Amino acid sequence: MIQRLHRSDLGNSLRTLMENDPAFRPVAYFSMEVGLKESIPTYSGGLGVLAGDILKSAADLGVPMAGVTLLYRKGYFVQEFNESDWQLEKPVVWDPSKELTLLPNRVTVTLEGREIQVGVWVYECVGATGYPLPIYFLDTDFEPNHPDDRTLCWYLYGGDNRYRLRQEFILGVGGLRILRDLGYMNIDTFHLNEGHAGFLTLELMREQGYYDPDKIREQVVFTTHTPVPAGHDYFQFNMIDEVFPPDAKSTIHRMLPNREGVSMTELGLLYSRYVNGVAKKHAEVSNDMFKMETVDWITNGIHPTTWISSGMRKLYNKHIPGWELDPGRLVQALTIPKEEIWAAHQASKLRLFARILETNGVQLDPDVLTIGFARRAATYKRADLLLTDVKRLKDIAGGKKVQFVFAGKSHPHDNGGKTLLQKIRRAAKELENDIPIVFIDNYNMEIASLLTQGVDVWLNTPVRPREASGTSGMKCAMNGIMNFSVLDGWWIEGWIEDVTGWSIGPEPTEKNANTDYDENLDANDLYNKLEKKVIPTYYKNHDKWVDMMKHTIALDASFFNTHRVVREYAAKAYSIDFRGM
Ligand SMILES: *Cc1c(COP(=O)(O)O)cnc(C)c1O
Repeated sequence: MIQRLHRSDLGNSLRTLMENDPAFRPVAYFSMEVGLKESIPTYSGGLGVLAGDILKSAADLGVPMAGVTLLYRKGYFVQEFNESDWQLEKPVVWDPSKELTLLPNRVTVTLEGREIQVGVWVYECVGATGYPLPIYFLDTDFEPNHPDDRTLCWYLYGGDNRYRLRQEFILGVGGLRILRDLGYMNIDTFHLNEGHAGFLTLELMREQGYYDPDKIREQVVFTTHTPVPAGHDYFQFNMIDEVFPPDAKSTIHRMLPNREGVSMTELGLLYSRYVNGVAKKHAEVSNDMFKMETVDWITNGIHPTTWISSGMRKLYNKHIPGWELDPGRLVQALTIPKEEIWAAHQASKLRLFARILETNGVQLDPDVLTIGFARRAATYKRADLLLTDVKRLKDIAGGKKVQFVFAGKSHPHDNGGKTLLQKIRRAAKELENDIPIVFIDNYNMEIASLLTQGVDVWLNTPVRPREASGTSGMKCAMNGIMNFSVLDGWWIEGWIEDVTGWSIGPEPTEKNANTDYDENLDANDLYNKLEKKVIPTYYKNHDKWVDMMKHTIALDASFFNTHRVVREYAAKAYSIDFRGM
């Protein structure tokens, strides 16, 4: 068992702690992307933002952890549109040395017969009580690496499958070698946030010097995030055989015999002592998909002080002291006076509208019900469900009764997603005089926080059960904003009709019972509830509206936060002793 750090240790670096205390055993958290803030553009969406939020909460709580990810010198991308509303991707220009510190450590990995030097940058994430948690960003853009190898840590989801395979080898194998070089000899647990870093099991086996899979399992835990098989990385053995060095090649064949390739998810499932999904429903779907019974769940959360507006933060500090380190106390939100909640909310709404005026030249009305929708423009997220029946939408929301704000990036290779974006932007122009619809370009963490603090309702319409968890709705809950969402992912756990928001479409009954159903049901239900519940409550029953806001904070924000998530991981997945925390 490892102890929480004493306050007197705060301010020391992990390195000093490791040298002074051989019993100190941190958790190494591996993630293909980490989203800490928009000025470190090494994330594309929910997976990375979740990783960042978990690491921040671990720092706040003083949990000994270190993050490992890749640097991505070219970031994800900056989103622009041409005259036909088609998404264009522009490279991100950022200077890692402004945000991170390059360490002198170098290790080598061999890929395609060439030695590659892997270096590392560090970001020190300082928690609320001063506890420093290091996050390591691996990089290969150094002399004397071969020009092809120097670009291996440039693009997030940019290259082909072979590029991806090499990136994942660098993350798993290079990442573990770097940790050892930095002095991390006593790692308690390797946490794989999604399967991408699964090749670290090869390096653990090599370090061990003999083949014993059980000993590897004892050290690894795995969080799966994708409820559909197509979402899992898969590499054919004929490619692996060309790329990997001989020892890694023979080990991976031995670990996954009688197969044609490596599914990173399967690798994670087979070589971990604990596996979890990211919401209750997602664990059920995963158990079905993998034909297992042991996938547990730890429902995702968001980092409280990253996502809360300054106004709400002041309000909670005044009425619920201590909530920042213990967000469970937000159950007391029901005692906050209604006028104060409303005033703080309207201030965030004005801030969002000021930004929209600046970037889009559109003046939205702060007294009009404003519905937000922003996420990756993947087709399963169905950003266009709202536009299923435009005439009906006009009847219900026309005359500027409702205004909508959209944002979202499509994956560069996803033409379906780009078509979705085009459809929304074109609808915005057609409906201009009837239903204001604004599209904010270049969705990132900064725009996400403006939106999840400043709209009145958060719309979410994924095809179930494709939304493993979803987290943007939790950011809204932290700011007292109700969700209006298909019952999937976290919302099944956070939803109380007319209390924390509204559902769209059928209720989940037994396992997977709602994977095949009439898609029109969702659109119909969306329109019905918008007309009969959401609009009338907003305009005619202000007291009930604000009461729902308070219940959203008390019931949802108190639970769907990464402080609770980290405590759950510590209790179920790591072997950390939480006394005194
Ligand atoms: C929170 C966040 C997400 C994840 O939102 P979902 O609801 O899970 O889709 C994606 N992108 C950014 C920039 C975010 O801040």
